[in-house]
Formats: sequence, structure tokens, C-alpha cells
Amino acid sequence: MTSYADFYRQSIDQPDAFWSEQAKLIEWHKPFDRVCNYDNPPFVQWFEGGQTNLCHNAVDRHLADRAGQAALIAISSETGSERTYTFQDLHGEVQRMAASLKALGVAKGDRVLIYMPMIAEAAFAMLACARIGAIHCVVFGGFASGSLASRIEDAAPKVIVSADAGSRGGKALAYKPLLDEAIRLSSHKPDAVLLVDRGLASMEWVAGRDHLWNELRETHADAHVPCEWLDSTAISYTIYTSGTTGKPKGVQRDTGGYTVALAASMKHIFDGRAGETFFSTSDIGWVVGHSYIVYGPLIAGMATIMYEGLPTQGMDKQPHGGIWWELVEKYRVTVMFSAPTAVRVLKRQDPALLTKYDLSSLRALFLAGEPLDEPTARWISEGLNVPIIDNYWQTESGWPILTIANGVEKKPSKFGSPGIPMYGYNVKLLHESTGEELTVPGEKGVVVIEGPTPPGFMQTIWKDDKRFVDTYWKSVPSKLVYSTFDWGIRDADGYYFILGRTDDVINVAGHRLGTREIEESISGHPQVAEVAVVGVADALKGQVAMAFAVLKDSSLAQDSAAALKLEGEIMKLVDGDLGAVARPARVRFVTALPKTRSGKLLRRAIQAVCEGRDAGDLTTMDDPAALQQIKDKVAV
Ligand code: ATP
Ligand code: MG
Repeated sequence: MTSYADFYRQSIDQPDAFWSEQAKLIEWHKPFDRVCNYDNPPFVQWFEGGQTNLCHNAVDRHLADRAGQAALIAISSETGSERTYTFQDLHGEVQRMAASLKALGVAKGDRVLIYMPMIAEAAFAMLACARIGAIHCVVFGGFASGSLASRIEDAAPKVIVSADAGSRGGKALAYKPLLDEAIRLSSHKPDAVLLVDRGLASMEWVAGRDHLWNELRETHADAHVPCEWLDSTAISYTIYTSGTTGKPKGVQRDTGGYTVALAASMKHIFDGRAGETFFSTSDIGWVVGHSYIVYGPLIAGMATIMYEGLPTQGMDKQPHGGIWWELVEKYRVTVMFSAPTAVRVLKRQDPALLTKYDLSSLRALFLAGEPLDEPTARWISEGLNVPIIDNYWQTESGWPILTIANGVEKKPSKFGSPGIPMYGYNVKLLHESTGEELTVPGEKGVVVIEGPTPPGFMQTIWKDDKRFVDTYWKSVPSKLVYSTFDWGIRDADGYYFILGRTDDVINVAGHRLGTREIEESISGHPQVAEVAVVGVADALKGQVAMAFAVLKDSSLAQDSAAALKLEGEIMKLVDGDLGAVARPARVRFVTALPKTRSGKLLRRAIQAVCEGRDAGDLTTMDDPAALQQIKDKVAV
């Protein structure tokens, strides 16, 4: 067995040899002539001359060996439906969808915008686009008209695929009126809209433009639509970043590099094997949903679970709080993927739910998307008794940048660290102002990646090469390096620790403090379930830290004596961990924190509210009431 250190070194020192080996994990229609073209940095072309197809590798390829095996398991605790599609079934559905899209005028290179809930048809639509060489642009189904309109404008889709409604917590959320309004707001109009009718909400029909999937599916019941062989460098899709730090960016990805990157990550990182089941709790609207609900597991010949519904007990006990674990037991899930924010939600439930089901099939739980605080990691790791594998990446990268590659060599995880650089990523830490490389363990710097970026990494920003270069590659004046805009440190063993985003730094009386470090300290208090720290302008000190915490037992916050006592304890805790400069000026207790629909903290909005400013564009926000609570608490 190769050591991971050797594996990694080869990927950096001999990328051509390394990646041509990985490229064997997928099927090519035509072999490539050149592995890596980095003649025009920072733009990289992977596997030039080669031709392949994502859908072929995810579906058709498996028909020979596992046609009758489960491929897509679509479960909705909202509608009470549960259906397993074999690879054979999926092949049929994807061709029906592909034929329908073609009938609506979609051709190779056209964009198809997908605005859908977590239902099987969303995966059919993605795979169908990949099959015919159309570029999909999935927009999270929780977004309202404004966010959707700006994405329609940017992507200029020929066709939009949507549904009558999604459902959350037992309540149907009509999509069609939001979509109609978004199309009205956008100057670009699609030629056609293809709608899945789930029977959840009535739809106002736009004659000539709107088409019903339920009908087209019948028309194309026996459709045979072969895969379009695409150049490796052809665009597979675009996806917008979460927008936590500003205007969302349309991340553009290729075909061959992405397919290879996913196949390699399934083997070396996730250690998922053909015939097994993968369960990612994310949403198709996010990059995790693209890479590890739809494409990655299918490329690996695994069944993938698509789950629509809450992770916790909903109204009428539907679903129950152990739903995820029940699914793990029922479908013998071997690899699971979720986010720290979801685990923190589970933490407020009875921990006995974690041990009620037979989880013996589960090999690991991967968590990504935001910093994984140690108490949360310990809680879930002890509760499930499986390894918890933190992994750090971005919409831009498409697959993990930092984690542990247990499929190459088993290595211990360290609490608080997502791990070490993955093969293909030449990760460095740079001094924030001089741009010097930091080599001494424990020094804090900006996490950057030296080009060429590996297969699967974004090609550019859709329609805007200049914004791509200016946004990501120009933060260090003298060097062409990709900035992640995250702070990190590296320990003597090469493990990285992410200390937050470069714009989440506060300056208290001349001391620069990461809000993330203060949050980590506060999370150590046994009563705290979740916390957000922001810097607020202060006449005397420049800025002071303000903390907003969600307690495990929310009744404590109602009791003002108890709240005061807790505030004191938390301040003491921070004093002890980080020193009195980091002590928050105030700790306020709330029942929810404002987050994006993907569960990321909206620190900028909290900060704006604390400073009495307008919180800005909050269309991507999950729960507006959470921000109101902060407003109320700041007022007192
Ligand atoms: P935008 O770029 O539009 O502001 P975003 O950065 O929130 O949005 P994503 O690409 O979904 O959009 O998130 C990537 C970011 O999430 C990383 O840059 C990092 O800040 C954070 N992140 C992801 N995984 C981890 C992790 N395991 N540990 C710490 N932080 C993480
Ligand atoms: Mg980002």
C-alpha cells in the first residue's frame, strides 16, 4: 500500500502521471492527448482531446454489471413517498427527460435552469442535461423570486424545469408563483417551462410556454436518447456560491476533469464501494448535492438517497427525530455526508435517538460546509460510535480540499481540524500582508492554492473570466495564487485548522481577533448549542465582540437571573481560553440564529443589525424571524 505522503507528493510533483492514472477510473469515448494544459494560468484544461460523458459514467456504464441494483432512492417524509429506482429504471427516466428537453428545443451547450425540490425528477433533469450536453444550472428550491430572477438573468436558460411545490415541515411551498414572478422580473425569458405536478399546489398555466412532465413523460415513454460525447473541457454545469460574503458567483465546471475528480474522491476519500448506499443530507441546490447526492455516488456504482424532509421531529410526529438513522438502518448506508449545522440541530433532541437503530453498516460520517466545533464533533462521534470526518472545501473546488484520505491510507483525525491537503491541491499558508509563505507550525495565514488547480475545480466564473481572475487570483500582489479567503494554521503534523473567513476578523483596541475563535471558546460551555460572534463598532475600542447564543435549554434564557449568570460564565470561559481582550462585551440569548438556506451563519447581517444599519439583501435567508430576535435583543 502506498503511503498518503507519497501519493500526495506524486500528485503535486508529477501531476500528469498521477492524473492519467486516476483518469482510468472513468470511461472515455475517446482518450485524451494531453493531461494538463496550464499554458495560460490560472486557467487549466484537463484531459484535452478526450471525450466522455458524465451521465454515461453515472448511469449507462453500470448497466452491464448492476442494472437491477438500486441507484436512486427517493424518500419524502413530507409526502410519505419512498421509491427505489434501479440503474435500469434510472436509465429509462433520464432518457424520457432527455427526450422531453430535446422536444422543447434544448440542444448541446444550451442552459437549463433547474428550480426544484428534492424529488427524483430533479436528478433525472440534471442527468438528462449531462446526457445531451446541455449546461444545467440548479437553483436552490428555497430561494424566492428575487434570487431566482438574478440567476435566470445570468444563466439565460432556454428551458426551466420546476415543480408545483416543495414541502417543508408538512407545509406545501408553491414554487410556480415564485417562478412566474422571477421570469417576469428577469429580462431573459425561457422558451419553455417543464413542470412536475406533485399534486401539492395548483398551477396557473401559461399557454404555449408551460409543459407538464407527467404528459411529456408518457409521450417519450420509450425514448432512446444516446449520450452525446463531449469534449473533456466542455462545460457540464454552473452553480452559484452561497452568497455568504457578497454577490453570488456562477461557478463553472468542466466535464472530464469533474468526472475523474469525483470518481477519485469516491475511492480515496469517501471509500464508497459499488453496490453500497450513500446518504448525503444536503440539497441538490448546493455543490454537495451535485457532487455527493447525484454524480459521485452514481459514478461509483452506489445507490444514493435523496431525502426530502426535516431531520427532526415535525408536526404530527412526521417525521420522527430518528429518521436519518432509520434510513441508515433500512438501506444499510455505509457512507453518510452532512453538515455541522444539521448536527447541532440534532443535538437539541434526545441523544438516545442515536442508538435506537442498527447503524452497523455505517463506516463514517463526513461533515462539511462550516467549521466543526469540537463539542459537536465529540457529541455525534460518541453518539454514533463511527468516525466523524470533517472535510473542508468550497463550491469553487467541487470536492474536498482538506480532509483525510482513508481510502489511500488510514490516518487519525484531529478534533477541530478538517485534515491535510488532498492530492492535487498544492495548499499553502500566506502572510496576510506580505504574501510570504508561512512554514513555521502554528503561524496564522490565508489558505491559498497554487495552480494548476486539480481536475473538478472551477474553470472560471460563468461568462466572466476577468471576474474569476480578479476575485480569486489577485489577492497577493506578486503571486498568482488562488485565495480561499479563509484563515488557517497548520500544526507540526501538517494538519490544518480553519479559523474563519478573512472578512470575519474584528479589531478590539488594536488586537486582531477571529470571531471564529471566540465562537469556538463559547461553544465549550455545556449549556450552549450554537453561537455567533460579530464585531460591533465601539467609540472607545474600535470594535467589541458581541455574542448571540442559542441555549440547549431555551427556558434558561427566559429567566433573567439565570441568563445573567450564564453570561458571566461565558465571559469567564473566553477570558480563560483567549484572554480578556477577546471577551464579548455582551452575550445575548436567542432561540435561533440568522442563516442562509444552506445553514451558514449570516454574520454580516447580524453585524449590520447590531450597528443599526440595513442588513442588506436577505433573500437567501432561511428564517427572517431570527434576525428580528437579534434586533430586539440589541435594543434592550
Ligand atoms: P460565498 O462564497 O458566496 O460568500 P460561501 O463561501 O458560504 O458563499 P460555499 O462555497 O458553500 O459558499 O462555502 C465554502 C466556505 O465554507 C469555505 O470557504 C469555508 O469558509 C467554509 N467551510 C466549508 N467547509 C468547512 C470546514 N470543514 N471547516 C471550516 N469551514 C468550512
Ligand atoms: Mg465562498
